Amino acid sequence: MATFGNLSARLTDTFKNLRAKGKLSASDIDSTVREIRRALLEADVALDVVKDFTGKVRDRALGDEVSEALNPAQQVVQIVNEELVSILGGEQRRLEFAKNPPTIIMLAGLQGAGKTTLAGKLAKWLKGQGHTPLLVACDLQRPNAVTQLSVVAEQAGVAVFAPEPGNGVGDPVKVAKNGVAEAKAKHHDFVIVDTAGRLGVDAEMMKQAADIRKAVNPDEVLFVIDAMIGQDAVATAKAFQEGVDFTGVVLTKLDGDARGGAALSIRSVTGRPILFASTGEGLGDFEPFHPDRMASRILD
Ligand code: GDP
Repeated sequence: MATFGNLSARLTDTFKNLRAKGKLSASDIDSTVREIRRALLEADVALDVVKDFTGKVRDRALGDEVSEALNPAQQVVQIVNEELVSILGGEQRRLEFAKNPPTIIMLAGLQGAGKTTLAGKLAKWLKGQGHTPLLVACDLQRPNAVTQLSVVAEQAGVAVFAPEPGNGVGDPVKVAKNGVAEAKAKHHDFVIVDTAGRLGVDAEMMKQAADIRKAVNPDEVLFVIDAMIGQDAVATAKAFQEGVDFTGVVLTKLDGDARGGAALSIRSVTGRPILFASTGEGLGDFEPFHPDRMASRILD
């Protein structure tokens, strides 16, 4: 899992300076907030999110909870921690299960975001909890995507539904519908629909994803985003929200040198919760997302 190297180090330094002070003046707090602001901007957190965050921290830090605290610096750290948890979504949001199975999960996102890998990870995780997911291969854009999905399905030990004559060759909407029908017929309790991405935001891709969504009415649409894309995360997320809309977010590649920006911006910018974090190429490198644990890692 990401250590948010620079961001963590900057915040740690800022708090070290603060702890050396004992009682805090308004100007100590101002300079601390300025440091936090700089650290967040350097980590590629969206400007509006940074402004909102530092505004809240500043207001609280200037209030009674700090001036009356036995250890004011510690209290400021506590406030930053609480506000980080808050921008990461507060409470953990779990996957929604359909009242009548199968629960249908659709994955959407740019090419290379990690959707196909995630399909395998989710399937393995669900299988480990006694579920019987079916993976449905609707990425007919990337030459290798169907084979790649079959490979991850095999690794996860779950079934896959792929386009073949009769299963809707060339038509991802038909494959999605037929895949869901197959899941019902064979009593799979989860369906995970992998969809096509493009290297950049593209109207045709959005329409295809929106059509699949309309056709199978998923319980969850998970927007999969590479945490390494930094500042682009916000525009990409907004485009997918407009084009397809989604119920939750999955952050991938948090094992890399993520600067933290996407992780910290995405919830505030989209209003959608982060459900999972992907932390490597292996199918086990995956975990439900806990805002409080992520905040602790950042402040570690
Ligand atoms: P898709 O185009 O969205 O289906 O993306 P893929 O699932 O094919 O993933 C693109 C590349 O990213 C592959 O080489 C994956 O092995 C890699 N990948 C996916 N998730 C992660 C992750 O969490 N961490 C790292 N380091 N690599 C990942």
